[in-house]
Amino acid sequence: MTTASTGSAASDLRLEVVDLISRPGAHRSFERTVPATGEEGSLAMRVPAGDPLEISGQLESVVEGIYVSGTVLAHLEGECSRCLDPVEDDVEARIDELFTYPEKMPGGAQDEDLVVLEGDSIDLAPLVHDALAVSAEDRPLCRPDCPGLCAQCGARLEDDPDHHHDVIDPRFAALQGLFEDEGTDRPGGEA
Ligand SMILES: [Zn+2]
Ligand SMILES: [Zn+2]
Repeated sequence: MTTASTGSAASDLRLEVVDLISRPGAHRSFERTVPATGEEGSLAMRVPAGDPLEISGQLESVVEGIYVSGTVLAHLEGECSRCLDPVEDDVEARIDELFTYPEKMPGGAQDEDLVVLEGDSIDLAPLVHDALAVSAEDRPLCRPDCPGLCAQCGARLEDDPDHHHDVIDPRFAALQGLFEDEGTDRPGGEA
């Protein structure tokens, strides 16, 4: 990737490391605040586009390459997986990656776990993206004991704790069984 459009997250997350290359022991810290693209997070929880991603950490020259460690602070928004109420979460996601010098790659092996240092800069964007994907909840809850919605009519059980249906149609009962089998967080449920 060459220079991207000015001010984009992609270009702002590229760090020059020419001063650290082949100088094991040399290190310095970095700090970047960039606008979210709207795609950071999980399917259920995302950083709204334009919201700040605060990234800070250390660059360290080691024998094999450049080691990057740090954190990403971000504000995630989504919906409760049970009742669909808005849910917010502030996360501090870890970044941890070694950018290996091409000549240190073992025998041209295509090791999927190794990231190659290309040129004299490193791109933080994929690290930030992955870190937030891991930190974001897949099944967010507005609160741990959210009662969710009635499986039969969709009513909010929180608004109506005594809500029940007197007549249970056998077809509904069968459907309810299906939903309960899918649930992974059924109270008191054990595998
Ligand atoms: Zn909820
Ligand atoms: Zn109901």
